[in-house]
Amino acid sequence: MRLYSARFYFERGNTMIYDVAIIGAGVIGGMLARELSKYKLSVTLLEKENDVAMEASHANSGIVHGGYDPVPGTLKAKLNSEGVELLFEAAKELNVPCKRNGSMVCAFSAEEEPIIDELYQQGQENQIPGLKILSGDEARIIEPNLSAAVTKVLHVTNAGIVCPYDLTIASIGNAMDNGVQLLRNFKVVSISREKSLFCVKSESGDAIECRFLVNCAGAYSDEIARIAGDDFFEIIPRAGEYMLLDKLEGNRVSHTLFQCPSVEGKGILVSPTVDGNLLVGPTAKVVSTPKCNDTTAEGLAEVERLASKSVPSVNFRQVITSFTGVRASTKGGEFILKASDNVPGLVHAGAIDSPGLTCCVSIARYLTNILSQIGLILEQKDEWNGIRENFHAFREMNDEEKNAYIQEHPAFGKIVCRCETVSEGEIVQAIRTNPTALDIDSVKRRTRSGMGRCQGGFCGPYVMELISRELGIPMEEVTKFGGQSRMVIGRIGE
Ligand SMILES: Cc1cc2nc3c(=O)[nH]c(=O)nc-3n(C[C@H](O)[C@H](O)[C@H](O)COP(=O)(O)OP(=O)(O)OC[C@H]3O[C@@H](n4cnc5c(N)ncnc54)[C@H](O)[C@@H]3O)c2cc1C
Repeated sequence: MRLYSARFYFERGNTMIYDVAIIGAGVIGGMLARELSKYKLSVTLLEKENDVAMEASHANSGIVHGGYDPVPGTLKAKLNSEGVELLFEAAKELNVPCKRNGSMVCAFSAEEEPIIDELYQQGQENQIPGLKILSGDEARIIEPNLSAAVTKVLHVTNAGIVCPYDLTIASIGNAMDNGVQLLRNFKVVSISREKSLFCVKSESGDAIECRFLVNCAGAYSDEIARIAGDDFFEIIPRAGEYMLLDKLEGNRVSHTLFQCPSVEGKGILVSPTVDGNLLVGPTAKVVSTPKCNDTTAEGLAEVERLASKSVPSVNFRQVITSFTGVRASTKGGEFILKASDNVPGLVHAGAIDSPGLTCCVSIARYLTNILSQIGLILEQKDEWNGIRENFHAFREMNDEEKNAYIQEHPAFGKIVCRCETVSEGEIVQAIRTNPTALDIDSVKRRTRSGMGRCQGGFCGPYVMELISRELGIPMEEVTKFGGQSRMVIGRIGE
């Protein structure tokens, strides 16, 4: 790992002064950090949680949307159509698994069929390549488990799937390897500006200073805007509930299957994931707070009912977990990507709801351009390296290659998570690689240990031991996701 940025920091007392501070280590903040790491700048990423990708960039559908959906002429449409190929390119550079499996939007009746024609037309206007209209029977030839009730389909051949948190982790890891500093557990509670410098303070009393500040706080972006002195938009958080099914159901479909969209969004999808599971969801329900991660019996029942409409043979006995993600929606539905009218040096990336994941690279470039327009000088570094070492290299080896690797690195021969076949070597690698995993859930997101059928029941204690050993902390201090989420409270008998 190269520590590039040490040359560019300035310190005043105990306060670091950066060229740019980004609030929020989701996929937008992460990709922006990576983009800015190409230049001779000191950049910091401020995150309230103990890890990156802890909000929307963790809990979403993971679909690379083809771009037929946004209204032509909008910023969303432009960034979506540019974003698809940019995302595939970035995923390749970052060694993040990504698959162009194509998607299908399904009409179930003569009344719904005109929606397919409208979406096709909209896609043509957005210049989306490879759109086709199929009859229900033509669609069932390439997607045999599709419901017999489907009458017409928009086939979106440029669409794909990606693991959203893997992409976020990799972009931030690559940004850090190129000199960006990640400050976790830095919940921004105060922002002031004096003599062209922002002073950004955290809940726990830490502070940094910066010349430019970018608000990438997702569903909290309106809160950050208000703290900074801007009050021109409001996030309306919309929760989406999902069920994830075992790999036994992973081949039920090969495309991502949508129903016709409504005002509430893209509807319930049925999709394979890049890891070989089946994902169904999400619902769309306005909630009072972005911190709304619980699933509900009604929500999951709705997911099951609507997913079965597209693919009646889905076996819901194979559900291994359920989760909720919260969209950063706003009135009008457009992304808010702009320099503040009130506060010089402040840029907002607010209301980045779907297809924000698809647009992460195009948004990062758009934001970089805004920063340049308001005075940030962009001078390219000579030694920027956009390639991230393949974090999943061991997982992808064949048996012969694995055996040879284990001879040299015995820890990769010790299986810790039996459901997902994750070795001690991979877990230690996760704890040591940027952005380092500091808790059980962070290890899980990087390695898949605990993501299988037993959901960590077997491997959890062993992962705790490895975290304790690698970080040099007692077992009692190992947490599930930072803060007070300790796994154990002490030793029996003490
Ligand atoms: C249910 C659902 C399904 C979706 N499906 C898709 C899809 O299939 N395809 C697609 O393209 N897009 C999809 N999206 C949209 C996509 O997930 C988002 O656009 C994207 O993840 C937004 O990233 P972000 O970085 O802006 O926000 P986030 O990932 O939410 O990141 C914001 C970060 O800011 C941090 N933060 C907040 N407040 C503070 C503070 N005070 N101090 C410090 N840090 C703070 C948070 O902890 C968080 O880490 C979906 C979204 C949802 C919710």
